[in-house]
This record gives sequence, structure tokens and C-alpha cells, in this order.
Amino acid sequence: MALYVQKYGGTSVGSIERIEAVADKLKSFHDAGHQLVVAVSAMSGETNRLIALAKGITESPDPREMDVLVSTGEQVTIALLAMALQKRGIMARSFTGWQVGIKTDSAFMKARIEDIETDGMRKVLDAGGIVIVAGFQGIDSDNNITTLGRGGSDTTGVALAAALKADECQIYTDVDGVYTTDPRVVPAARRMEQVTFEEMLEMASLGSKVLQIRSVEFAGKYKVPLRVLSSLKEGNGTLITMEEMGSVENPVISGIAFNRDEAKITVKGVPDIPGVASRILGPVSDANVEVDMIVQNVSDDGTTDFTFTVNRGDYKKALTILNNVSNELNAREVSGTDDICKVSMVGVGMRSHAGVASKMFKVLADENINILAITTSEIKISVVIAEKYLELAVRALHTAFGLDAETVTG
Ligand code: ADP
Ligand code: ASP
Ligand code: MG
Repeated sequence: MALYVQKYGGTSVGSIERIEAVADKLKSFHDAGHQLVVAVSAMSGETNRLIALAKGITESPDPREMDVLVSTGEQVTIALLAMALQKRGIMARSFTGWQVGIKTDSAFMKARIEDIETDGMRKVLDAGGIVIVAGFQGIDSDNNITTLGRGGSDTTGVALAAALKADECQIYTDVDGVYTTDPRVVPAARRMEQVTFEEMLEMASLGSKVLQIRSVEFAGKYKVPLRVLSSLKEGNGTLITMEEMGSVENPVISGIAFNRDEAKITVKGVPDIPGVASRILGPVSDANVEVDMIVQNVSDDGTTDFTFTVNRGDYKKALTILNNVSNELNAREVSGTDDICKVSMVGVGMRSHAGVASKMFKVLADENINILAITTSEIKISVVIAEKYLELAVRALHTAFGLDAETVTG
């Protein structure tokens, strides 16, 4: 008998039929004698619908009230799933975040879980019942409802598994595992049997939304065995592992991630003197805008062009800030664009293989794709390119690095 925490995402609970199918699945685990704690998302589309309602009233809703609003989606699905289980003769009890005691900090819309009480859940488990917990939400020390950021139900699942010391945290979604890249963009993408935490962390942070990055961080920190599986199809899914495979088996590149949520701002012709970077980026960070890539080109007339990328949602704000300070900076011009994207290749095998970057640049050049910015770290290389080339770039790289399903064995 094992204790599993299972998380079901929006598509998996997207209709009454799907909820009934999840209940059937849970029943079979329960019948086999396993203990189950289940975290669920809102029905697919519901969180977006709620956000749109708020935007119908104001462009910048109060974050506290946003969390009161968007947390309602998950309250619907926990109750429906509990009813579906009860209909099958299984004792089931639903809990919202505050009822189960998911304590977070007070950063509305991106709160972090600090503590989880387990007594209430243990009581239901000990009585032979299934515990159903609303994903994505918690409560701060002043009893405000908080939410964990988009995709946050993954983190609820992993945090519950850590708190309960579950045997495994199983993330059930609409794909049957973690793929070499988003299978919706590259049909030849291949499911990975396993992927290291390190790689998964990079993939998630670089845009693969199959797991929220914080869920991966949490799993790494608390050593939670984590698996991604399909709620619709049987299979082993993908195990996120602590260990690297033997170095011989390590592919150089494990996966390709991409992010459309990007924009780029260039400040041209600023004097190339100490402190210029901080004078450009200081006001941006004071406005709570996160800067991702930074590129500085030096010209020979003593001026420099400074380019950086931000989330697309922060683009207008950042551009306005820079336009306001451009006189003070003695800048020749401030310009920007939000039709760019970031494509990243990830692999622990990069540590022991040279030439990955040059091969990547050659593949993109052969497709006539211009690179606008580059960053690298030990196990990843990211490039910024025009968004219209995203699919082309990802598919070409996927093929060139031998990731396509037909060409990969084992
Ligand atoms: P859920 O609602 O279950 O949380 P999400 O939509 O958040 O599901 O995440 C699953 C989706 O992630 C898939 O449908 C797929 O399009 C996307 N995805 C992006 N990158 C990958 C990847 N490398 N492997 C698998 N799925 C990926
Ligand atoms: N319902 C929330 C969202 O759409 C949380 C989640 O599904 O993980 O972001
Ligand atoms: Mg998700």
C-alpha cells in the first residue's frame, strides 16, 4: 500500500465526463489499497474566464481581490470530484486551501507555500477516505486568500506530497509525460522515460509549461519523487530523477523549450561610462519589472547600445520608463518590439560536449533565422529570435540534434 498525491490539471477535469473518468481512476487506486490525496485545478478555461471578468472592470485589479476571484475555480472542481467519488461508494472529502491549512506568504497572485498542516488530511486517510484539495490556493497569516501563480496546482500537489512524505507525486495532465519539446508544436517530439531535476528545472523556467517551475524546485528541495502522466492514457509517464544517467547514455541535448512571452527594449547611443547599466536597469527594477537577457554592444565613438528582454506583459511599462529617463541617460534613441520569442536548448550532456552553441547557430543560419540575443549557462543555450520563426527554429533544432522520434532509439 502506498500513499500517492495525484494532481489533475484543467483539461483532466474540464467536463463532467472527465471528472467522472478521474473518479473511476481514483477508485481503481483506492480499490487496490492505496491512500490518495488529490489536488485539482479549475476546469479548463475557467481561470482565464475569471481573469477576463476582472479585466472587464479594471485594467489593474487589486491583487488581493484577484485571488479571491480566481481561487473560486478550484472550489468548484473539488466539490464535483468529491460527489463523483461518493456516488461510487467511496468516502471523499474536499478541502479548500485554507481549510486544509496551506499557509503562504502574502504575495498575492504569486504566493509561496510556507507550511502545510497534515492532521486533517491524515484523519480522512486513516478513516479510509480520499482527500481532495483545491490546487493553486492558500491562505496568508492574516487569513487572506492567496494564489500561487499560473499553473500553481502543480506546486500544491508537490507541496502536499512533501508535507505528507508521499511515496510519489503524480501529475496527471493532457500529455503522457515530459517530451523533448512541446508535442503540440513538434509532432515528432519524443516522450522521455526520465529527465533529471536540473534539466526539468531549466525546461520549466525557459517556458515548458508542463510543470510550474516552483513545483520542480519544491520537489528537488524536499526530494519528492515526481512523475508526469496522462489522465487519459495508460503508461509510465516521465519520472523526474535526482541522478543523471550514465554519462555514455546522456544525450547532449535533452530538450528544447521556448517562450513567446518575451519583449525586447534597446537603448541606443548611451555614453559608454561606468554605471550606465545600473542607470538603465535601476528604474526598471524599481518598477518591479524583471529583466531576463542583457546584451551590450560597444561602438567606437564612446557610446554603447544596450538591449534587454522582459516579459511581454511588462513591455509597455518598461518602454514608458525608458522613454522617461532617456534624456537623463543622454540616449540617442529608445526602441523596442514585442514580436520576439526565446528558444532554448537544455541538456546536462552539454557539460561534456563542446560545439553545441556553434551547431545551434549554424542550424538557425541555414534557415535564415537571425539571432537577436544569446545567453548560455552550463546546461542551456538560449537565443532570442523573431516570433514568426519560432516553430521553424524549434523543429529544425529538434531534427538537427537527433531528437525526432523516428531517429532516436531506446
Ligand atoms: P494542466 O492543465 O494539466 O496543468 P498544462 O496545459 O499546464 O496542463 O500543461 C500541459 C501542456 O504543456 C501540454 O498540453 C503541452 O502542450 C505543454 N508542454 C510544453 N512543453 C512540453 C513538454 N516538453 N512536454 C510535454 N508537454 C509540454
Ligand atoms: N487554475 C490555475 C491556472 O489556470 C492553476 C492551475 O491550473 O494549475 O493557472
Ligand atoms: Mg499546468
